[in-house]
Amino acid sequence: MNYDAFADMLARSILGLSIKRQVPLAELTTFQIGGPAEIVVEPKTQAEIVSTVKACLQENVCYRIIGLGSDILASDAGVDEVVIRLAENYAHINKTDLPTPLRSLKDTHQAVYVEAGASNELVADTLCGWGLAGYEFACGIPGTIGGAAIMNAGAYDGEFSNVAYKVRCIDANGHVVEVDREHADWSYRHSMMDEAGFVVLGAYLVLATDEQAAITARMQDLQRKRAEKQPLEMPSAGSTFKRPKGYFAGKLIQDAGLRGFQVGGAQVSQKHTGFVVNAQGATAKDVCDLIEQVQIRVYESAGVWLEPEVRMWGFEEKE
Ligand SMILES: Cc1cc2nc3c(=O)[nH]c(=O)nc-3n(C[C@H](O)[C@H](O)[C@H](O)COP(=O)(O)OP(=O)(O)OC[C@H]3O[C@@H](n4cnc5c(N)ncnc54)[C@H](O)[C@@H]3O)c2cc1C
Repeated sequence: MNYDAFADMLARSILGLSIKRQVPLAELTTFQIGGPAEIVVEPKTQAEIVSTVKACLQENVCYRIIGLGSDILASDAGVDEVVIRLAENYAHINKTDLPTPLRSLKDTHQAVYVEAGASNELVADTLCGWGLAGYEFACGIPGTIGGAAIMNAGAYDGEFSNVAYKVRCIDANGHVVEVDREHADWSYRHSMMDEAGFVVLGAYLVLATDEQAAITARMQDLQRKRAEKQPLEMPSAGSTFKRPKGYFAGKLIQDAGLRGFQVGGAQVSQKHTGFVVNAQGATAKDVCDLIEQVQIRVYESAGVWLEPEVRMWGFEEKE
């Protein structure tokens, strides 16, 4: 693929689009690991996103979406693809009408439309400022609305699907479509949009009105719990493994005697064994080797095979 020519074509056809070449994914992921992406574009409008996706489809160029990169392990070799970054440049939050079936709730509820790049923290803070409750659970999840919609992010008994009633997407053919909650098929870290390779453009949420002070207190409580338990001071991608049915990954790892276990610069967190952290200049290979060791040791001790929750980028092609 001639990426110089493709970048030139994008620049000519989508005036003002931010286009960068050879961007280290270590700079775009919370793990701070990963080689370069050939092209990173940062659209600011829905029209720019749609045009970028259509250009990729027309030219047969593979693309991926990145939000805040808080659930990605990128390979040391990087990705030979276009990465479309939907983050702070595409992050408006607006009040909107309640959907018709919910109009009777208008005295106690409010709908909002949030662009995919808005961070969960920004959304939770903004909704709190408007006296709208329901998104507190996500205030400490360091990703975007797009990332939350794709994997039904959840924490502390809350999950994205509890408050979302519709998402706007680009389907695999480049068409803008709206997917209602019945068709989104949200379950634990799963959505139809993820399976079908959709780009999430934004989400419609329905929130209940509440006292701002009460919402703030709940958010502060959750932030405190998170800071107590999680190694927020170290680069990571959050929980490395999915929760196996009937178990907690962290407990299985701890029981296998792996607290602090290290491969190169990658380490099972001393503070929370469910997290692999980049303790000291870890490479993607260090993390992969560590993950494999943990899987084997936990399987030997408990008979449970842990599946990674973190998304692996660039391994199929180059490693
Ligand atoms: C310290 C820490 C704590 C965490 N705690 C939690 C937690 O409590 N609960 C939880 O669920 N997760 C948690 N996570 C993981 C992560 O924050 C979430 O999975 C989050 O939803 C990822 O959002 P993102 O924008 O960073 O997505 P990225 O990491 O950028 O992307 C993740 C995946 O989503 C896709 N994607 C992102 N945006 C879009 C879009 N607009 N359209 C289509 N696909 C898209 C990407 O292609 C990729 O496959 C934690 C992570 C860290 C580092």
